[in-house]
Amino acid sequence: MQAPSGRDAPDRCPGAVQVHAAADGGLARVRLPGGRITGAQLGVLRAAAAELADPALELTSRGNVQVRALPPGAEHELAARLSDAGLLPSATHERVRNIVASPLSTAVRPLVREFDAMLCATPALAALPGRFLATVDDGRGDVTPLLGDVGLHGSRLVLAGVPAQARGGPELLVRAAEAFLAERAAQDSRAWRLAELTDGPARVAARLGTALADVPINRAAAPAPGVHGRAAVLVVPLGLLTADQSAALAAAADEIIVTPWRTVVVPAAAMAEAERAGLVADPASPWAGVTACAGRPGCAKSLADVRADARAAVAAGTSSPEGRPVHWVGCERRCGAPKERHLEMVATISGYRSAAA
Ligand code: SF4
Repeated sequence: MQAPSGRDAPDRCPGAVQVHAAADGGLARVRLPGGRITGAQLGVLRAAAAELADPALELTSRGNVQVRALPPGAEHELAARLSDAGLLPSATHERVRNIVASPLSTAVRPLVREFDAMLCATPALAALPGRFLATVDDGRGDVTPLLGDVGLHGSRLVLAGVPAQARGGPELLVRAAEAFLAERAAQDSRAWRLAELTDGPARVAARLGTALADVPINRAAAPAPGVHGRAAVLVVPLGLLTADQSAALAAAADEIIVTPWRTVVVPAAAMAEAERAGLVADPASPWAGVTACAGRPGCAKSLADVRADARAAVAAGTSSPEGRPVHWVGCERRCGAPKERHLEMVATISGYRSAAA
């Protein structure tokens, strides 16, 4: 039996309407279900960031986008522009539209759209925590390892990474999310994640009239930078899209998929333009394995400007001494750490401490 775990603080995950007061100003998180954004929508987001806040767009480990350094009150103008562009379809559900999907699969996109629409049309699901995550994996095993609270692996239901016997589609995911809320209430818990509930996966499965399944689930690595058939994967260095890079992507691609690995997927025909703007399609590039949290000046907890330090290490050729992925963080909270094995560089008051993670 898993140990129960409680939360003594309310969930304060930022959204596009409910922004977070960061050290550098308001931080708005724009949910992109399945990471999908059209070129036209990216153009709107780019212009809004350039005119209202920090022009660079920050990619998150759930394939969302953040706008930083909003002055007080500017979130209203941002929300209005997002709404006009179709990026804010529900003010009540905006923070719970956390859906990660296999980025190279076109088959999952209609499932993501359908689930998102059903989620937003179910008033009770507005009560989901902002950290609740749904995964839609086409069966290749790239996003199931991210341990969504509810997910589809092919058509199989997966609960906190544990396969269940039930199979289905978006409607099953909606029922599973409802079952999470019901089980959380039954346990008198404020848990943000299914795995935090006592026997969460088994009990939610039982509420759905199914059970967990002792079957293997295949796992795959994140898609590497480069061409994959008609699509190309490009690294966004340190997960920061500059205004010029956003403009280049918006002009070159009708559709962009933001992945949970700080890469973007664009049509292969748009790859050269994206590379000219500074995105990276070479899997051997040092940028391919380097990530960082926000650090200074955006985060008050940070002991260093980790992005500047990571850039300096890449320039010096010392960013990845053993060829392993490296994640730079400004404090022990280790925000945004990749799920796979990596080297972490943790800022301390006396410099960086490195350790395997
Ligand atoms: S790891 Fe620490 S410094 Fe970095 S964003 Fe998180 S809280 Fe801030």
